[in-house]
Amino acid sequence: SCTVDGVVSALRSVVAVVDEHRDELVTLDREIGDGDHGENLKRGFTAVLSKLDNPGETPAAVLKLVASTLISTVGGAAGPLYGTAFLRASSALGQTPELTPESIVVALQAALDGVVARGKAAVGDKTMVDALTPAVEAAQAASGSVAEVLSAAADAADQGSRDTIPLVARKGRASYLGERSAGHMDPGARSTALLLRAFADAAS
Ligand code: ADP
Ligand code: MG
Ligand code: MG
Repeated sequence: SCTVDGVVSALRSVVAVVDEHRDELVTLDREIGDGDHGENLKRGFTAVLSKLDNPGETPAAVLKLVASTLISTVGGAAGPLYGTAFLRASSALGQTPELTPESIVVALQAALDGVVARGKAAVGDKTMVDALTPAVEAAQAASGSVAEVLSAAADAADQGSRDTIPLVARKGRASYLGERSAGHMDPGARSTALLLRAFADAAS
C-alpha cells in the first residue's frame, strides 16, 4: 500500500539498505572524498528510524519528518541535499493520503529540482544529480504501478551512478582532486541509486 503505513515500511527498508551499504559508501567516499558518506547516511537514517513510530498522518508528513531529521543529523554536503530532496518531495505531495504513479513522478521531479537549486550541480558534474536526473526521466517515461515507476527510476539511477565512474568531478569535495577523481564511482550517486532501489523493492 502507498498510504503513510506503506511509506513508513519503505523507509524501514531504506534504513536497512543504508546500514548494509555503509562500508561500501565509506570506501567510495575514501577514494574521492573524505570517507564519511556511509557513516553520515547511516547516522541520519538511524535517527529517522527512531522517529518512525510517530510518522504523522500523510505520506507528505513522514517525508517532511525524514527531511528535518536528515538536515539535522547527516551533515556534510549530502545532509542538506538529501534533506532538501525529501522536503521538496513532501511539499509536492500535498495532503494526498495515498501515493499514485503520477504523484511519484511529481515528487521525484521536485526532489531533483531541490537538489539542483541547492547544490547547483549539472548532469556530468559527478554528483547525485547524475543518478537522480535519469531516474526522473525514466519515471516520467514509465507507465504502470507505483512499483513499476519506482523500479524504472531505480534502474536508471543505477546506470547513472555507474556512468559517473569516468567523469571528472566539478562539484563537492571530489572536485578538489581534478582529473584524479576519474575512475571512481561518485558516492552520492551510488547512495541515490540505493535509496531508489530500496523504495522500489518495498513497493513491489
Ligand atoms: P562531504 O563531501 O561534505 O563529506 P558526503 O560525503 O556525505 O559529504 O557527500 C558527498 C556527496 O555529495 C558526493 O558524492 C556528491 O554526490 C554529493 N554532492 C556534493 N556536492 C554536491 C552538489 N553541489 N550538488 C549535488 N551533489 C553534491
Ligand atoms: Mg564525504
Ligand atoms: Mg565530510
